[in-house]
Amino acid sequence: MVALTLGQSSAPYVRSRVEAGDPTTQCLFWTVPKITWYQNRAGNAETKPSGSEFDAVRRSFQSWQTLFAGCGNLTFEEGGLVDDRDVGYDVKADDNRNLVLFRTKRCSDIAPSTDACWKEDTCGNLYDCWSNDSQTIAVTLTTYDEKSGIIYDSDIELNSFGFYFTTADGPSCPTARGGLNCVSTDVQNTMTHEIGHLVGLDHTNALGSTMNPRAPSGEISKRSIDTGSHDFVCTTYPRGIASQGCIAPNAMDSDGSSSLLGRKAATGCASTGAQAWLPALAGWALLLGARRRKERRG
Ligand SMILES: [Zn+2]
Repeated sequence: MVALTLGQSSAPYVRSRVEAGDPTTQCLFWTVPKITWYQNRAGNAETKPSGSEFDAVRRSFQSWQTLFAGCGNLTFEEGGLVDDRDVGYDVKADDNRNLVLFRTKRCSDIAPSTDACWKEDTCGNLYDCWSNDSQTIAVTLTTYDEKSGIIYDSDIELNSFGFYFTTADGPSCPTARGGLNCVSTDVQNTMTHEIGHLVGLDHTNALGSTMNPRAPSGEISKRSIDTGSHDFVCTTYPRGIASQGCIAPNAMDSDGSSSLLGRKAATGCASTGAQAWLPALAGWALLLGARRRKERRG
């Protein structure tokens, strides 16, 4: 038996696990028939033409919806624009939306280094800022039951502080920021990848995969979902059948409670440029605890 180190797989697709990269743990998956998602109404003011980012996000969801309509068992529905800017899952709240938003400020610039939010990993929501690695384009934060692998909630943050998000089809922008009718960090390219995480995909190094962890400036190829990720949809979410885990439920410790033993997994997606084949960050945190560990992968 070959143990694959996380991030080194070149399989057509790799499913996310309760313990990242540990194939002895359950896979993550949705069991609901419909995933409703929302965008924060602020969008990304920097994107040109103004407001085009909203439709770019919609096109990304539509690409996945098309696959699910062909062979899957769930649908996506847009819930509209909301003021909510909090990511993660609050067990006490009743408005745990699956949210997409752009963070335009960096936490290290506005959250005092002495603030407890750093330790508690809450600076992002508290100060409305990007709290992840500066080289990471976007992060999908998924909350799930650590026994069953069933996903409760998944939110996507885009790093607008570090990247210039565009919606044009080409050519590549000559400068990092501000170009018109050119591609720097494509919204649809980024979002199609992040929605892959939302539905339970991890990174793969398979050539041409939407789930490749790197996205150089100017790239739009991830807009088109690859055949491996397509196979994931048909296999994990088979039409007319329940969504599939990787380990039979009766092989696990089953108290059937599916309670609030949630966890959240933040899957970061690195950039970028010619020189930088940087590792993505995967942050894991206990939902109700302060313990946290990160694994670098790439
Ligand atoms: Zn990623």
